[in-house]
Amino acid sequence: MSSKRKITVAYGDGIGPEIMKATLNILEAAGAQIETEVIEIGEEVYLKGISSGMEPSAFESLRETKVFLKSPITTPQGGGFKSLNVTTRTSFGLFANVRPCKAFSPYIKTNYPKTDLVIIRENEEDLYAGIEHRQTQEVVQSLKLISRPGSEKIIRYAFEYAKKYGRKKVTCMTKDNIMKLADGLFHKTFKEIAKEYPQIETDHKIIDIGTALIAERPDTFDVIVTLNLYGDIISDVAAQVTGSVGLGGSANVGEEVAMFEAIHGSAPDIAGKDMANPSGLINGAIMMLVHIGQPDVAEKIGNAWMRTLEDGIHTGDIYQEGLSSKKVGTQEFAQAVIERL
Ligand code: NAD
Repeated sequence: MSSKRKITVAYGDGIGPEIMKATLNILEAAGAQIETEVIEIGEEVYLKGISSGMEPSAFESLRETKVFLKSPITTPQGGGFKSLNVTTRTSFGLFANVRPCKAFSPYIKTNYPKTDLVIIRENEEDLYAGIEHRQTQEVVQSLKLISRPGSEKIIRYAFEYAKKYGRKKVTCMTKDNIMKLADGLFHKTFKEIAKEYPQIETDHKIIDIGTALIAERPDTFDVIVTLNLYGDIISDVAAQVTGSVGLGGSANVGEEVAMFEAIHGSAPDIAGKDMANPSGLINGAIMMLVHIGQPDVAEKIGNAWMRTLEDGIHTGDIYQEGLSSKKVGTQEFAQAVIERL
């Protein structure tokens, strides 16, 4: 029997196939012990009339491998199409969204070069639970669902993450000065679980001032744990101010299944031109390797990737006159990483 870990891979739409090819070449050259099963998702599947963007065989593959490395997809315009990410999250109970926001200065300009924070967002409850109804023609209601088990699960995940990665502080963000029951339950659960981790410093911020502080001083945060809607918003704020939108990866993690991807979308404007930066997906794949118990390969790739940036070998999106030494395409960038493994 092969000792390789089987993973499900989707090449996605737009620049997806190019960045996936580059990423898988790097994984192979680095000696990642993986075997890939390729599924089709995204635009073509949507246009066949499958509203989830995923065929039944894709669900079966995920149920079997439990690990999904996914390229970005294009969601067709117009009604009737469900978000593939939401479908995957709800079908497989991916309760935690993990988004590291790290400054990649000086390659990406940021005023906060020391920033290295991780947002851990609850992924199933809150206003995203989909409990909406029309009361009258003129009034609609959308309900916020917060449960103690759901809160415990994500908060414990955040503390365990901090412990595993040697992080020092976990900040909880809520609006419990107004939503005393719902956000109050989350904050109360945070205080209780924090007692189990006396070695980790804790803090709480009301979400509005918390967001302002992320925008003003992202480098003062370490791990942040928060509710679904707030997490959705602050992870974009944090990625934007640290400059990690172009290079960052993210993970959606459940008890059994986990999905890893780049933060950015399918970039149809540059698709098929070998111009895309594969770094976001490479960073997603690095998170995946840690998840499947191959942290040495993850570290090797992370170091080689960093050395490639340091040597000034840059794709067009981050190329800067004076700082960069060579402008390269997607596959040449991957080759440069491979040469530095
Ligand atoms: P986008 O992230 O695809 O592109 C925004 C800009 O960034 C574009 O100018 C693009 O060329 C550039 N860019 C993005 N990734 C790049 C890379 N790796 N290298 C170089 N440049 C890059 O965002 P958008 O244009 O708003 O969305 C395009 C499509 O992607 C939409 O259909 C959207 O629904 C989808 N999308 C998918 C995901 C996902 O699958 N996880 C996430 C976000 C958006």
